[in-house]
Amino acid sequence: MDAGTSDCQRMEDLNEKLTSTVITEGQEAKRKEGCIFCSIATGTDTKNKIIYQNSEVVVFHDIRPASKEHLLVIPSNHIGPVKGLVKEDKPKLEYLFEVGKAVLEKRGGDISQSRCGFHWPPFHSIEHLHLHIIFPATEMTFLKRQIYRPNSLWFATYDWTLEWLEKQSNKKVTES
Ligand SMILES: [Zn+2]
Ligand SMILES: [Zn+2]
Repeated sequence: MDAGTSDCQRMEDLNEKLTSTVITEGQEAKRKEGCIFCSIATGTDTKNKIIYQNSEVVVFHDIRPASKEHLLVIPSNHIGPVKGLVKEDKPKLEYLFEVGKAVLEKRGGDISQSRCGFHWPPFHSIEHLHLHIIFPATEMTFLKRQIYRPNSLWFATYDWTLEWLEKQSNKKVTES
């Protein structure tokens, strides 16, 4: 890894291509106290090295990589797990994917050779929406293949999730 130029700097030319307000709607990002991913987004947690960040998303390495590249793409806002999303949230997921794909490609990965998706409750450890992008999928160990098994009870691929969202209602269930 080249220590001279940070990952973030090398990714800067993605900014223009990835301009959006789909997550924050131009407002200040909403954080949740005590959330580890929110801490990463604000820079309070420095253990996880951020690869790319803009106003809407943060991309960093999974601390337990399942293959050569294992990116986590999270929204800047504290958004809960994918199961609580509604149809109108679809563009948010599409944006997470778009950014993850761009960052992966910039790092020499190929999205078509990747496993992309979300952990499904109750099998997720962190209550902040995050998209896993694992490349190459063929280099995953047996155990990791189980943990990130496509459309198992605990892991839903990106494509499957979009289709599922399409079938959900548009009404947001009000949370207390
Ligand atoms: Zn959070
Ligand atoms: Zn996960």
